[in-house]
Amino acid sequence: MIRWLSAAIDGQDRGRLEEAFRWLYTFVKPQTKAIIGLMLLSVVASALVLLQPWLTKLLIDEGLLAKDYGMLVSMAITMIFVGIFSTGLSGINRYLHTRLSGRILFALREHLYEHLQTLSPQFYGSRRIGDILSRLDGDVSQIQRFAVDSMFSALSSVLGLAGALALLITLSWELSLLVLVLIPLEVLWLRWMRRKVERQTRIIRERSADLSSFLVETLPAMKFIQAVSQEKRESSKLHNLSNHYLTDLLKLQVTEFFTQAVPGTLTSLTRATAFLIGGYWVIEGQWQLGSLIAFSTYLGMATGPVQSLLGLYVAIQRMSVSLDRVMDLRRAEADIAPPETPATLADNMRGEIEFDRVSFAYPERAHILNQASVVLPAGGTIAVTGPSGVGKSTVIDLLMRYYDPQQGRILIDGINLKQLAPMELRKRVALVSQDITLFRGSLMENIRYAAPSATDAEVLAAAQQAQLTELIDALPMGLETPLGERGSQLSGGQKQRVAIARAILQHPVILILDEATSAVDEATEAEVIANVNRVFAGKMRILISHRASTLSGVDLRIELKEGQLVADNPELEVE
Ligand code: ADP
Repeated sequence: MIRWLSAAIDGQDRGRLEEAFRWLYTFVKPQTKAIIGLMLLSVVASALVLLQPWLTKLLIDEGLLAKDYGMLVSMAITMIFVGIFSTGLSGINRYLHTRLSGRILFALREHLYEHLQTLSPQFYGSRRIGDILSRLDGDVSQIQRFAVDSMFSALSSVLGLAGALALLITLSWELSLLVLVLIPLEVLWLRWMRRKVERQTRIIRERSADLSSFLVETLPAMKFIQAVSQEKRESSKLHNLSNHYLTDLLKLQVTEFFTQAVPGTLTSLTRATAFLIGGYWVIEGQWQLGSLIAFSTYLGMATGPVQSLLGLYVAIQRMSVSLDRVMDLRRAEADIAPPETPATLADNMRGEIEFDRVSFAYPERAHILNQASVVLPAGGTIAVTGPSGVGKSTVIDLLMRYYDPQQGRILIDGINLKQLAPMELRKRVALVSQDITLFRGSLMENIRYAAPSATDAEVLAAAQQAQLTELIDALPMGLETPLGERGSQLSGGQKQRVAIARAILQHPVILILDEATSAVDEATEAEVIANVNRVFAGKMRILISHRASTLSGVDLRIELKEGQLVADNPELEVE
C-alpha cells in the first residue's frame, strides 16, 4: 500500500515519501478497529444507495406500468424504511468518522509537538515560527483529511463503482460500453493535470506560511513598530502578502476547476448519449422505461466514484506536499542525543564543573571554545567575563546541555553531561537570563512554573525572598493577579525578581545569572545580587555580565578569550 501510494506521486524522492507514509501509518495503525468498523458501515451505506434506483425501477415497471397496486404500496413502504435507515446510518457514520479523524489529527500534532520540544535553540533561531505554525496547523489538517476522509471516500467509491457497474451491465451490457470509453478518457486527463496541481498547492502552502510568519513576527513587535512609525510599511507588507496569496489561490482554483470540469462534461455527454440510445429503445418498445431511468441513475453513480477516485489521485499529490513539509519538521534532529543508560545525580551533589579540552562551534562559524579546560569549584561565586558576542551565553547553553561539545567533555561532579538526561541536569541548574519568559496566567502560576508541586505558602515565601512583596501588595489581586500576555504589566526589574523567585523554588545546585541584572540600575543590581548571595549561599552561582560592579566580590573570575576559558585568579580555591 505504502509502495503503491508513493509510486502514485511524481516530483518527489520515492525513498523520502515512503519514509513519510510509513511514519503516517504509525498514527493510522492504532485506529485499525475503528477503521474496520467504519468500513463495514460504508459497505452497508453503499449497498443502501445502490438499492434506491432499483426500487424505483421496480416501482415503475412492476408497479406503475403493470398497474399493480399491491406492488406500489409495498415499494413505497420499503423506500420509506430504506430512507430512514440510511439517514440514521449516515449520522452514526459521520460521528464515528469525526472521532476517528480527530484522533489521528491530534495524535499527529501531539507527536510533532513532543518532537519540537527536543530541538535546540539553534533550530528555533533558524526557522520562522509562523512557518512552523502553518505546518503544525494547515499541513497536519491536510494530511489528516487525506488519511481519513480520502480513505473512506476511496472505499465507498470502489464499492459504489463495482455495484453500479454490475447493475449497469445487468440492465444493458451494450449501453454499459459507454462507460468503458469514458473512464480511460478521464484517467488520461487527470494524469495530465496533477503535476500542475501539485506545484500550485506547494506554492499556496508556502504563501500561507508567509502570512502566518508575518503576523507572528509583527504582532508582538507592535510597540516597536509604533515607536519607529512604520505602521504603514507593515500594513502594505500584509497587503502584498495577501495579494500574492490571493493571486496564487485563484490560479489553483482555475486549475482545479478544469481538473474537475472536463471529466464532468464528459460524464454529461455520456449520459445524454445513453438517454438518446436508451430512449430510442424505449420508444421502439425494446426496453422498459423504469430500466432506462435506473440505468441513467446508475450511470451517474458509476461516474461519480470514478471522478472521486481520480480526484483522490490529485488529492494524494496535494497531500504529499503537506506530508513532506511536516516530515521536514519531523526530520529535524535534536542537537543532543539522550543517553542510552542515563546517569543520575546524587541528591547531595556538590556541583563542581569541569571543562575538559572542550571545543564547540556553531555550524560554519568560528570556534567559540577551542580545547578549553577549566574547573569551576563547587559552592562559590564565579564570574564569566568577556566582550559581547564572544560566546558566554553559548558556554551556558553547553552547561545546560542545549548542545554537546564537538570535542572534549564537560563534567559535573565527574559525570559527563552526555550521560545525563537533559531533564536530570536542568532541574539542578536554575537559569535567570535577561529575557524572562512569562506566560499568560497569574503571578502565582508564573512563579510556580518550574516547580509545579510547590505549595502556595512556598510560592509566597519564595516571592518574599525574591523581594516581590512590594509588588504583590501593589497588585489588585496580589499573587492571583493575571499578568497579561507575556507579563506585559511588569517592569524589567520586577520580571527579574519573578525569575529569581522561580529559581528559589527550583532548589538548584547551580544558579546562573546570565546578564540577568543588566536591565536594572546599579543600586538595584547590588541589592538583587546581595539577595541572591543570601538566598543561594553555599550554592554555586555563575554570574555573567559586562558590568565591573556585578563582577566585584566574586570568588573566581573566568575570562572567555580566543576560545579559552582563562581563570583570572586560579590560585583561589573555593570550598
Ligand atoms: P555572548 O553571550 O558572549 O554575547 P553568545 O554566546 O550569545 O555571546 O554568541 C556568541 C557568538 O555565536 C556570536 O557571534 C553569535 O552571533 C553566535 N551565535 C549565537 N547563537 C548562534 C546560533 N544559534 N547559531 C549560530 N551562531 C550563533
